[in-house]
Amino acid sequence: MRQHNQEELFKRTCDIIRPGLLQRETPLIVGAGSGGARVAEELVRSGISHIILADLPDERLLEHNIIRHPLGYRDLGRLKTEAVRDRLLDINPACQVEIHGLDFAEDRELAEHLLRKATQCHSCVDNDKARYAINEMIVENHVPAFFAGVFDGGVGGEVIRVMPGGPCYACVASMLNRSPRFEQDRDESFDYSDPDQDQYRSTAALNIDISQIALVHARVALNTLMEKYELEGGSPMEGNYVLFGNRQSAPLFPSMLHCETWQVQKADDCMVCSGLNEADCASQADEIMASATVR
Ligand SMILES: [Zn+2]
Repeated sequence: MRQHNQEELFKRTCDIIRPGLLQRETPLIVGAGSGGARVAEELVRSGISHIILADLPDERLLEHNIIRHPLGYRDLGRLKTEAVRDRLLDINPACQVEIHGLDFAEDRELAEHLLRKATQCHSCVDNDKARYAINEMIVENHVPAFFAGVFDGGVGGEVIRVMPGGPCYACVASMLNRSPRFEQDRDESFDYSDPDQDQYRSTAALNIDISQIALVHARVALNTLMEKYELEGGSPMEGNYVLFGNRQSAPLFPSMLHCETWQVQKADDCMVCSGLNEADCASQADEIMASATVR
């Protein structure tokens, strides 16, 4: 491998992100498809140097994935986790990428083990069962998490941020499911982790549509870290839900690149997170960070 120089690598970005600080972080990315691969790539480019990447066992890059995935023909047929790991190492060879093949909805023991090593979790899975399983585990383990999805046809998408003690994914999803504004688009949404799966009715989203939402996802995560480390430019995100329109699609998106940030409240009757509050979780969040620095 060609010699690389970390200082030179981050020369043009270190005034903004200070990669050294972000080395304390270990994101867990669940799903190495179109969304997860891009989020992982952006995190590495931001200076994250430890990543845990998980996908279903034997999840491989197929030919029809290529047009909407950062990987290409060179990796056709390979396990997505292995190929994405190599891609990340090609961007920063000093990065440590741990890969696992498991179903988060089924293999709870390993899933929880991985979560306990992580300082944030990115849900880039392709089904609600896994999404709700991840939600339960991140709430229980007080790990900040980010969920994202692309709407039918790629007209836009959403990013949900769940902080320890705050409203969880189930709280946000139940509010959105009751909102008449989402009557069509959200009902038919698919997760951007693997829009090519056969069970999805729509395969109309373009690569640019999926990438745009993945970038919003990565930006929300990065901004959360910049806030945490009080970096300049890390303006507080006022809300936990970002709705982003790639294209005009009335009534949801009145214009292209339409963006809204909402603060969705905790549902009093939430089966997952009611009874927990931010104060209870703060000390445990500190513990997570403390253990994360001892490697
Ligand atoms: Zn909840």
